[in-house]
Amino acid sequence: MALLTDFEQLLERENIREQVCALIPAVHLMRDLGASLPRVDSFGGARDRILNYLQRFPATAIAGDEIGVVSGISEYARRVRELRVEMGWPIFSGTTAKEMIQQEHYAGNGQHELDKGLLETIEAMVVDDYILLGDQDRDAAHRWNLANSVRKQKTSVRDRLLSYLRQNVGIPVTGEELRYVAKGATEWARRTRELRTELGWPVSTRNSGRPDLPVGIYVLEADRQLPEHDRVISDPIRVTVLERDKFSCQRCGWNPGNMMPGDPRTLLELHHIEHHVDGGENVADNLITLCNVHHDELHRLGINGNAALSEWLASD
Ligand SMILES: [Zn+2]
Ligand SMILES: [Zn+2]
Repeated sequence: MALLTDFEQLLERENIREQVCALIPAVHLMRDLGASLPRVDSFGGARDRILNYLQRFPATAIAGDEIGVVSGISEYARRVRELRVEMGWPIFSGTTAKEMIQQEHYAGNGQHELDKGLLETIEAMVVDDYILLGDQDRDAAHRWNLANSVRKQKTSVRDRLLSYLRQNVGIPVTGEELRYVAKGATEWARRTRELRTELGWPVSTRNSGRPDLPVGIYVLEADRQLPEHDRVISDPIRVTVLERDKFSCQRCGWNPGNMMPGDPRTLLELHHIEHHVDGGENVADNLITLCNVHHDELHRLGINGNAALSEWLASD
């Protein structure tokens, strides 16, 4: 099997995927006949070939069978897991990727034009597909250890997700980690979104107002919950308000691009102008973007309603 021995040169070829796919039936046949695949080198080599192949086709759905061919081993799923957990490559399974986009990317109208092709790719994935969605994260191994201990806590899926995120404040984590913490519960993506939309934890994603984040990444931006009356804001409304306010505090103009060490302003929050508990509507016109410092100040001053707000926004 020249494909396995001259892999590096072959990988450069235009039609490498066709060649790999053409070999899938042969690999199945050999497996059915009880023959083992020719083992050309160590497992490390198999792992490298899997990675090289995924890197050759990033953001592309790759069938498990193709990985079986390029790795030359039948237990490729273990090697994929090592790449993900020990080496920090954001390789998503078809299952996880689909659960993720159903909650985060089709949740509303905040969809980004650029992502359409990728979203369609993910939507079409099957259980045994894999997709590489970004660069290596060398801290991932440490987090996976942490995920392993949080996973064992005898609490609800949502509490475990929150516990994991609170131990990683400001650190991007992948959907695969969250799914693992949730012990594979299919509701992991929905519970994660509810932490933001119902409980007011600032869990950001690409489609909830942080377009700079890659698909598949979640960040708990600060270890603080929005005041009760500001909770329950849907993602499409959140994105509409943030875009209208140009992702900046309407009191001081701060935006996350101006992040400075020592500056207490670290995140943007949405405030209900007419407090939600007082019957204030959950619509864009009743919401305003503020940095955490000015959001706190507004609450400290007890400002409620449009008139008081306008006066405060205009004051020096
Ligand atoms: Zn501000
Ligand atoms: Zn508020």
